[in-house]
Amino acid sequence: MPDDPQDLKSSFNEKMRLIRFRRKREKLRFWNEFKLVPRWLIWTVVVLYVIAQIIGQYVLHYQLGHHMDVFGPDLDNDPGAAGAALFAIITGASLVLAFMVFMVGYVNKDAKRRGMHSALWTFLVIVLLPGYFVLGFIIYLLMREPLPFNCPQCGTIVGARFNFCPNCKCNLHPACPQCKREVAETDKFCAYCGQDLQPGAPAEARPLPSVPG
Ligand SMILES: [Zn+2]
Ligand SMILES: [Zn+2]
Repeated sequence: MPDDPQDLKSSFNEKMRLIRFRRKREKLRFWNEFKLVPRWLIWTVVVLYVIAQIIGQYVLHYQLGHHMDVFGPDLDNDPGAAGAALFAIITGASLVLAFMVFMVGYVNKDAKRRGMHSALWTFLVIVLLPGYFVLGFIIYLLMREPLPFNCPQCGTIVGARFNFCPNCKCNLHPACPQCKREVAETDKFCAYCGQDLQPGAPAEARPLPSVPG
């Protein structure tokens, strides 16, 4: 039965293992990843931050001018210190908010370039933000599919879900002939069973003794 929960679980685990296997080759640098966040989103956040500072300082100045209690008598009697305190508070809150906004912007763009359901993942990350903060983002990072990559034979860009290169029919998910687990094209030996993977090496003439059985 295909809806056997045990089967579903093991096929899910296998899928996750292959995704992690492919993704390990991605060399992600923070700055390059950050560039995925749309430019307009960054500028919107910067402008909102400046506006918040101006309004905040204006309101503070007004309240102090009318002898209202803001930070308590110690700070309120020193307008410079009160202004600096408010500046620090707004900056701190803005950094947290900016982090969340950029995170959502990143997931939206990154899911698109990986051929995933961008709107759904963006929605998930936003929905989990209030109660669970970055949990949605962490789930996304664990589940996301590999980036399209270059065909190891002809260099054509191929999707991570492709089994064969559409240009040269190169096998994009080579498996170990002995244990059938997926191996990398560059592996000389299977990482799981030690099978010799060099081209031309016959499967029978392996140097390692096979498991008894
Ligand atoms: Zn190819
Ligand atoms: Zn193997």
